[in-house]
Amino acid sequence: MENKYYPTIGLEIHAELATTTKMFCSCKNNPDEEKPNINVCPVCMAHPGALPVLNKKAIENVIKVGLAIDGKIADFTEFDRKNYFYPDIPKGYQISQYKYPIVSGGVLASFDITRVHLEEDTANNKHDRGDFSLIDFNRSGVPLMELVTEPKTFENTEEAAKTASKFAKELQLILWYLGVSEANMEKGEMRVEANISISTNKNKLGTKVEVKNLNSFRSVERAIIYELKRMTELSEEGKAEEIIQETRGWDESKQKTFSQRKKESSEDYRYFPEPDLPKLKLHDKKTGFDLEKMKKELPELPEVKRARYKENGYKEEDIELIIEHPFLTEWLEGVKKEIKNKAALQIAYNYIASDYLGIEKNIPGAKFPSYKNFAELMDLIFENKISSRVAKDILAMIVVDDASPLKIATEKNMLQSSDESALKEIVKKIINENPEAAASYKSGKENALMSFVGKVIKESNGSANPQIVIKLLKEMLARS
Ligand code: ZN
Ligand code: MN
Repeated sequence: MENKYYPTIGLEIHAELATTTKMFCSCKNNPDEEKPNINVCPVCMAHPGALPVLNKKAIENVIKVGLAIDGKIADFTEFDRKNYFYPDIPKGYQISQYKYPIVSGGVLASFDITRVHLEEDTANNKHDRGDFSLIDFNRSGVPLMELVTEPKTFENTEEAAKTASKFAKELQLILWYLGVSEANMEKGEMRVEANISISTNKNKLGTKVEVKNLNSFRSVERAIIYELKRMTELSEEGKAEEIIQETRGWDESKQKTFSQRKKESSEDYRYFPEPDLPKLKLHDKKTGFDLEKMKKELPELPEVKRARYKENGYKEEDIELIIEHPFLTEWLEGVKKEIKNKAALQIAYNYIASDYLGIEKNIPGAKFPSYKNFAELMDLIFENKISSRVAKDILAMIVVDDASPLKIATEKNMLQSSDESALKEIVKKIINENPEAAASYKSGKENALMSFVGKVIKESNGSANPQIVIKLLKEMLARS
């Protein structure tokens, strides 16, 4: 009989904080700098004797994350030296936090949070230039947040992989909403590592493997699935002892994990308190932070927003799309203030979620129109004064040249005409011009009707109400 294996996943996520300057010096923190070694100084290049100075903004950002995930903000925090040798960290140690992280505990997307701490990013090694390596120090000393979750045990592989990637996605959203990190995974601004193990006993953890280089939500899922399968197969073949505690990389092109190095334990790093930085009391309003005020000033977070939109009856897929574009949620709030018919907000929602995002891609230089003009457009649609086709045309105009949709529709004669006598003239004309189509409709070909509808609407410059056109066509074709 085959054993049942329970997968356990723990996550470690690093995110570069979007501060103006670096963590311990006044060099610019610019992840988009293309020229190497531009934003550097003796501190971030680790010259002997250079002294670090704390960037308060970076600490504030980590506190915000802590408040957002309901973690406990430490009374006291300090920095530690994490000692190891590698060319990307020429000091021989990374300034990090060990015993006293800024945040402990918290919950996010069904994972319990162990801790969130602050450290410095390392320089960037370039190994792809030939038989030598180059080092770029622009990234060295950039504030880096590290979040660690508690291990979570799942029923099956699928659930483990999905939940882990969902967690990473949710954390990215929170970082965006708080405005503390760009968290672009492709650019390495957010890096996910997964601790993976399997066990036949739900209450006993197996040997864990740490998988690195996960640069997308997809690779988080794929790597977890691959690794769990590898572990399960080894166990089934009686080779469980070949699962060792190690760091493995994820090879995106081969879709496989591969062994990188045997994992150091924390003792190997010989952590000790950083003597060049002050210890901090975070709850002290004078020297630290006003946590009450910071808590009050937190923006509405994705989970709360989701629940609110759901209550308003918005479609699930629309909600996710808007939640994933924080600027859209802000936009919607602005439109809401200007809109006359509150029920038209659902239309606004659909237009933003589908049409606007499409327009932005297809029309170069498209910008959001003012809340007022966009709201007016939505009211016109809601009140049936313009057809949805005309609405799309007007939207395409006002994203380039922001103007009143009512004014445009009036001037261009695009207001929807429900005036039957005016429409009757057009319908009559179109029927007369297309005797073959009329004959084929009468012989029972229902779809001939639709070609008439299109022609009538075109003739009316898009202003004809399609429902009324269909009604008139049926009446008049029956009589002709
Ligand atoms: Zn510097
Ligand atoms: Mn770290």
